[in-house]
Amino acid sequence: MIRREIIERVRERADIVEVISSYIPLKPAGKNYRALCPFHKEKTPSFMVSPEKGLFHCFGCGAGGNVFTFLMRYEGISFYEAVKSLAERYGIPIEEVEGVREKFEPYFEINRVANEIFRMKLLHPREGKIARDYLLRRGVLPKTWELYGLGYAPDQWDFLSRFFEQKGKDLLLVEELGLIIRGTKTYYDRFRNRIIFPIEDTRSRILGFGGRILGEGEPKYLNSPDSSIFKKGECLYGLKQARDHIIEKREAVIVEGYFDVISLAQSGLRNVVAPLGTALTEPQLRMLKPLVQRVLLLFDGDQAGRKAAMRAVELLVQEGMEGDIVILPENEDPDTFIKSHSVEDLLRLRKGGLEFYCEQVINNYEIKKPEGKFKAAQAFLEFLNKVEDPLKKKIYGEYISSLLGIEPDLLLVRLRTSVNRNLERRRGFLSAEEVLVALAMQYEEVLKWLEEEDILKEFSSEILRDILKEALEAKKRGGDPSVEIPVMLQERAVGGGIFSFLLSEELEDPQKIFRDCVKRIRLRALRKRRERLLEEIVEAERRGDEEKLKILLLEQQAFLKQERALLESLK
Ligand SMILES: [Zn+2]
Repeated sequence: MIRREIIERVRERADIVEVISSYIPLKPAGKNYRALCPFHKEKTPSFMVSPEKGLFHCFGCGAGGNVFTFLMRYEGISFYEAVKSLAERYGIPIEEVEGVREKFEPYFEINRVANEIFRMKLLHPREGKIARDYLLRRGVLPKTWELYGLGYAPDQWDFLSRFFEQKGKDLLLVEELGLIIRGTKTYYDRFRNRIIFPIEDTRSRILGFGGRILGEGEPKYLNSPDSSIFKKGECLYGLKQARDHIIEKREAVIVEGYFDVISLAQSGLRNVVAPLGTALTEPQLRMLKPLVQRVLLLFDGDQAGRKAAMRAVELLVQEGMEGDIVILPENEDPDTFIKSHSVEDLLRLRKGGLEFYCEQVINNYEIKKPEGKFKAAQAFLEFLNKVEDPLKKKIYGEYISSLLGIEPDLLLVRLRTSVNRNLERRRGFLSAEEVLVALAMQYEEVLKWLEEEDILKEFSSEILRDILKEALEAKKRGGDPSVEIPVMLQERAVGGGIFSFLLSEELEDPQKIFRDCVKRIRLRALRKRRERLLEEIVEAERRGDEEKLKILLLEQQAFLKQERALLESLK
């Protein structure tokens, strides 16, 4: 580890404009500098450098950070190497102290080695034949195995655990990553007789694995469990391969499974990603948000697919994003569909997300009857309350009114009032949690406040919580959060919005912003708890458990009171 004073000195000496302009030409633009982004293809410059803040950010692809992360990314080197190289350049002698170099490096190394082995097994003339035959039968060509790094876990109980043992690796780490499982006497492998899909981040580091069983057996798909480097709800399969194509088209195609991703990519639709075995999450959408203008969501034609599509549209609207939907014909998924149709056939099925949503609501209620129409209107109101942008709200409201055949004002007047809008309002596009990360980067005392408020446990994003926790630890062992947070953000590819926020907004009263964010996070946590309580209430009512019901209702009262107080103080 390099001492903090040294890192500080390097940062002071290494002028961000000077360093970046030695790689790409920078042009002055006001008090900032502008350039064509070195991290994505573009014709008009959206890459900005702020000498004043010591940060860079690309408004096109979301890359951003400080002088160290620029080097890390541009040269593909580690933080340690970046500091060292800048220190050399500016003639600052480096003294090292004992410490961890890169906390997660050993984990990535294990996954990398495991993936190598899986890939070798797939290509092994005898052992891999069954897997290769399976892939070819499903129409997946060797060039696609290569592109997505597919592998094969042989049908053995302890092939991987034995391998790592022989290599002298720390089996506890391998276990933590979920590659092996501790049995009563020895370890055994999690993935057996499966096609292996490595899940990579955009820096080609392997976060975890997915496995599809060969032949019959349960479960059909198996994923690595969440670990310190892998959070299922916060990564997307195929993003590494799709990223440049997504940026180029300004659109991401979202499908459900591994095979959907690779067969669409093989057919030429390269901007395609998938969540990992669960419904799409907010953090996943936020990863795409800085890269796209809209998303295209593909769903199976059954009831479950339609339901998932409805939920996805709600999520999009909530995040202020635009999207289209494709509902495939019954009994088809993207993988089967593309085998007998072209990409163009697929894209012809696209429909605006909003139109699709409204159509479904109208179909679900008998709007010819007064009660049906009333219920549909209520469902629409709930939907409209998720829309943040007032203009969008109005336009959507008018569209929906015309569908129901009622006066727009009747609907619009019932929408939530400004108090809630104020609450949901984000700074730019950031969530309160992201704003706190941005603040902590600029003002070190924010970390102390975070600890005093004990708010991290209420965070909904595990990644952001982990980053702030680590920043706190870093601070305690003498590190500099303003240097290390950008590095962590880059490692987890979640910094886009945060840097754009830091470059485009002046943070005048950090304490006030901090307090506001904390309140918004508490409120959200409170609402989540109240939702769960409501489920319990419904359940108690159903069972006729009067005693329980009484207690629950009191609890609910208390929650509502707290919520009102928080809302009041946010006004
Ligand atoms: Zn860029």
